[in-house]
Amino acid sequence: MRVLVFSDIHSNLTALETVLERERNIDAYWCLGDIVGYGPDPNECIQRVRSLPNLLVVRGNHDAATLGEVDQQTFNHEASLAITWTKRVVNAESMEYLLSLPEKEIYNDITLVHGSPRNPVWDYVMDFRTALQTFSYFDTRVCLLGHTHVPAIWQENATKAPTAPVMDYYKTKIVTKTILNPGSIGQPRDNNPKASYALFNPDDMTWELRRIDYDIDSVQQRIKKSGLPWRHALRLAEGW
Ligand code: ZN
Repeated sequence: MRVLVFSDIHSNLTALETVLERERNIDAYWCLGDIVGYGPDPNECIQRVRSLPNLLVVRGNHDAATLGEVDQQTFNHEASLAITWTKRVVNAESMEYLLSLPEKEIYNDITLVHGSPRNPVWDYVMDFRTALQTFSYFDTRVCLLGHTHVPAIWQENATKAPTAPVMDYYKTKIVTKTILNPGSIGQPRDNNPKASYALFNPDDMTWELRRIDYDIDSVQQRIKKSGLPWRHALRLAEGW
């Protein structure tokens, strides 16, 4: 079974389409939240994601903020401006879809959340210490999560933090209880602007992290046209 695992699209349709175009023979699609926020294409991204077959999606913090479920002041100023903009442009159908998203999904021996199983929408698993604490909050062998926009692999019983998989391709076999983060499709933050995602095979437990170039310039132009903060366009080119 080939599963495309992806997260944090953030209304970047060009990045999403580029990945979907490249990865054709996919049996299931698992999206770890934040379909919207920051970027110019919220309705289009929601429509594209929900059209995918054998789909699992969980709710992210920007999805929740668009629904008005959280205080926008918890976001930094420019993220908040984008949420206000997104609230204005999302149609009723998109809102209904966001509202239908669960905070957590479990598929066989795999947990899917946006942030962390401890606090599915909000927690960040950013460092080794937090990752080690997180293991006691899920019973499955694997936990898939996003939210940090940085790809990562955290293994239980590891004695030290793993080297971050910064290269454009990285393949590993999961042999112990593990937390996996595919990075971000639409706004990577590890100084690598290429869209980040993973191919996961739950049958033999292999995880392949992949990166791909997409037309960043066209997204920047749409951000400019929409009146969203220019900072959200700038960061795409540098990956921060
Ligand atoms: Zn995000």
